[in-house]
Amino acid sequence: MNYYSWHKDAYQQLAQRSGKLPHALLIKGVTGIGKRAFAGALAQGLLCEKPVAPLMACGVCDACHWFGTVSHPDFRAVQPEAAESTEDDAEATDKKKKRDISVAQIRSLEDFIHISAHRGGAKVVVIQPAEAMNINAANALLKSLEEPPPATYFLLVCDRPHLLPATIRSRCQQLLLNSPAMQEAVDWLVKNGASRPELALAQTGGAPVLAAEIDTEEYWTSRKQFFDGLSLRAFEPLALAEKFAAHPVPQLINWLQRWTYDLASLCFQQRLRYNPDFKEALTLSARNVNGLEVLRFHRELVRFQRIVNHPLNVRLLIEDLMLRYAGLARD
Ligand SMILES: [Zn+2]
Repeated sequence: MNYYSWHKDAYQQLAQRSGKLPHALLIKGVTGIGKRAFAGALAQGLLCEKPVAPLMACGVCDACHWFGTVSHPDFRAVQPEAAESTEDDAEATDKKKKRDISVAQIRSLEDFIHISAHRGGAKVVVIQPAEAMNINAANALLKSLEEPPPATYFLLVCDRPHLLPATIRSRCQQLLLNSPAMQEAVDWLVKNGASRPELALAQTGGAPVLAAEIDTEEYWTSRKQFFDGLSLRAFEPLALAEKFAAHPVPQLINWLQRWTYDLASLCFQQRLRYNPDFKEALTLSARNVNGLEVLRFHRELVRFQRIVNHPLNVRLLIEDLMLRYAGLARD
């Protein structure tokens, strides 16, 4: 596993103090810039038995081979169960559980943490996204962070550190990873065959890994349908809600959040940030709404991000959002 080129300096700074790494590292930064790859490279670098340089895995030793097949006995990766399972037919309450990292998942690490390493070297636990730990899971982890076993490293990967309990944050050394400069991100996307690099980056606030993920025909088509629906002069909130009833809610909220950001931005500053390809529709809509109301709605959507993974009734939620959006229009 390798880190992305724009994180080379950050990685090398860590490598320079490879003998004195903290037992708990909180790797933070915005979504979609490559934090997981960074944590993966670091985990492999810690486990590799013939590193080519400090923390630089060789890629060919037994340890690297096991790491590559996710079977290294001294490595554990903890993530929400929903990310591990491909089943999508569970009931809503089960889904909620599966989107959390549970206390059972953290407790299941206890044996691993307290026996000595199979290979006599380091043991590594990667937890991602760390903010998915529910409060009981975080408390269970806290004990291990307070009394760290020797040569055991906890790598917590986190998009939104403010959602982590302060007690966890304070026991980790924090490492902030950055996005690359815009041109570097565009070049990287072009090299990787992106169809609309600039627009994809505008969507993700400059995060290239996420931009590469979303840059699919399916994404651009659904987004266009959704925004076309919002822009209609005779906007039909319930029809649009119906059409997108089966669409992933986090993505809808994200689109709506950024659409309203651009709308408010046009109302107050005559510019837009996320959706330059919809400038005309947004400009028309901006004439027809109350900027302050849009701003208020936008801020609510931002707060929504906290609960967006656990909506109780998806259909009602989408309908409600569409009706609220319709309510922004001036009579
Ligand atoms: Zn190796």
